[in-house]
Amino acid sequence: MLIDADVKLEVRKLFDLAPLHNPAHMMGILAVETNLPDVPQAVVFDTAFHQTMPKTSYLYAIPMVLYRKHQIRRYGFHGTSHDYVSKQAAEYLAKPLEELKIVSCHIGNGASCTAILGGKSFDTSMGMTPLEGLMMGTRSGDLDPAIVPYAMNKEELTLSEVNSMLNKHSGLIAISGISSDMREVVQAMNEGSEPAKTAFEMYVYRIRKYVGAYAAAMNGIDVLLFTAGVGENSDVLRKAVCEGLTFLGIELDDARNRVRSGESRRISTDASKVEVLVVPTNEELLIARDTYRLVKAAEEAAADE
Ligand code: AMP
Repeated sequence: MLIDADVKLEVRKLFDLAPLHNPAHMMGILAVETNLPDVPQAVVFDTAFHQTMPKTSYLYAIPMVLYRKHQIRRYGFHGTSHDYVSKQAAEYLAKPLEELKIVSCHIGNGASCTAILGGKSFDTSMGMTPLEGLMMGTRSGDLDPAIVPYAMNKEELTLSEVNSMLNKHSGLIAISGISSDMREVVQAMNEGSEPAKTAFEMYVYRIRKYVGAYAAAMNGIDVLLFTAGVGENSDVLRKAVCEGLTFLGIELDDARNRVRSGESRRISTDASKVEVLVVPTNEELLIARDTYRLVKAAEEAAADE
């Protein structure tokens, strides 16, 4: 959407739901408004790609009044990335996207898996906020919701403190006690740190569980994709995830997996039933294309008036 006063107001209302992103984006929007007042600005929502999810994927099993009154449901994030890499994968494989069952793993500081059926998001691991799903750099991912009131009570935490704990002080940093940066966690693990090893293993285990769940959700998997900071760069992580997925017909080629490159590439063996690919994401390109389309459409509409 092109940014106007209403859009800014709506984004402000959503600060609580993505506290790591929305307030920072608003600062950017205001800074550009101040310094480049004649330049149009757009917001491209990371949730848009996931609007194709069926009810069975996006509803929470809680009273429907919460959905009807407050739109509490799963939205999913990293949509721009999952959209881009799934299209790139189909192109790389020279296969029609409509015929593919893809599990896309966007593993960066934030991390999510998406089940992409025929080019459309069918399910994704992030929920109403980016907190749900995989373990991340500083986010907890899935947890028993009863922990929230229990911990608040025991530790005398406020709502904002518990929100900050789960978004900013959990995940890799909490378990490793070292860093939210996967490079530092892997290095510490290699130097013998037990907490770093536990953090790495938990992180991998969660990804593997989601890949398995999404293969079941789609009744099959043709392509497993890795992207984003960790997914594109960490052969150690990819190997660890794939090692436990041989039952699906996933066979990693160690030499291919170790190759470093900025291009899309196959890292499975030729015999592997599932194609395992590394596809560098390019959210900026997709956002730029969407922005160009929006600005052009607005200019044309203005010229018609
Ligand atoms: P992103 O959010 O996509 O920018 O990804 C950031 C994350 O990618 C950080 O946690 C980095 O530590 C991680 N990352 C970048 N390069 C590597 C690497 N070679 N091995 C492991 N993690 C990496």
